Amino acid sequence: MSAPITEVLERPVEETSDDTPKLFHYVRKAKIAESAVLGTHVVALCGETFPVTKAAKPGSPVCPDCERIFKTLRPGTD
Ligand SMILES: [Zn+2]
Repeated sequence: MSAPITEVLERPVEETSDDTPKLFHYVRKAKIAESAVLGTHVVALCGETFPVTKAAKPGSPVCPDCERIFKTLRPGTD
């Protein structure tokens, strides 16, 4: 059994867009750790960058681009 290499994080949504659904993005765990240490933004699989936020709750809508890229990933590759 291998540990998951990604976590799903919430990207803060601008208050200006009311009808934009809140999406969550896949972020590599290595990036999250790096961000926590350096204070930088994390980079999602789809290329979105945003500050580290809370993890997604089960059933949260995930960014379709991240979802697609996530399915091409294999554990152990980076
Ligand atoms: Zn995404």
